[in-house]
Amino acid sequence: MKSLHHFLVSLTFSAIAFVQGSPRIAVLCMLVGWLVDADHEIDHFIYTRRFVLNPLKLGEALSRQWHGTLYIPLHGWEFLYLILIASSVYNFSFLIALSYGCHLVMDILGNGIKIFEMSVFVRWSRGWKRQFDTDSWF
Ligand SMILES: [Zn+2]
Repeated sequence: MKSLHHFLVSLTFSAIAFVQGSPRIAVLCMLVGWLVDADHEIDHFIYTRRFVLNPLKLGEALSRQWHGTLYIPLHGWEFLYLILIASSVYNFSFLIALSYGCHLVMDILGNGIKIFEMSVFVRWSRGWKRQFDTDSWF
């Protein structure tokens, strides 16, 4: 998924939070919904020894095109669960979880990532190798 799409969706949740009088929640919506793609910089750097350093190009430097691996440690259902639990325990807005969850779903739909591959544990257990069978979402 293109970074601009993530930016626009995150901006929507952020604007809702801001209108509700929660500027900190608004900032967090942008961080988890858009800037989470900064982990692609790690992935890109591992293979090229260079950073992209363009916020509108985050997530577009995917090493899987060259090596079949995908080091994106900030993308995972595990973090969505943690955000949901934290928002329940500490009583803060679900907009953060919505912003992050939409990011993951958009990556699945837009990048052909399988639903189970959107788990840090699954990717780690596979040695960060990415499966390219695009006939299935699982
Ligand atoms: Zn992403």
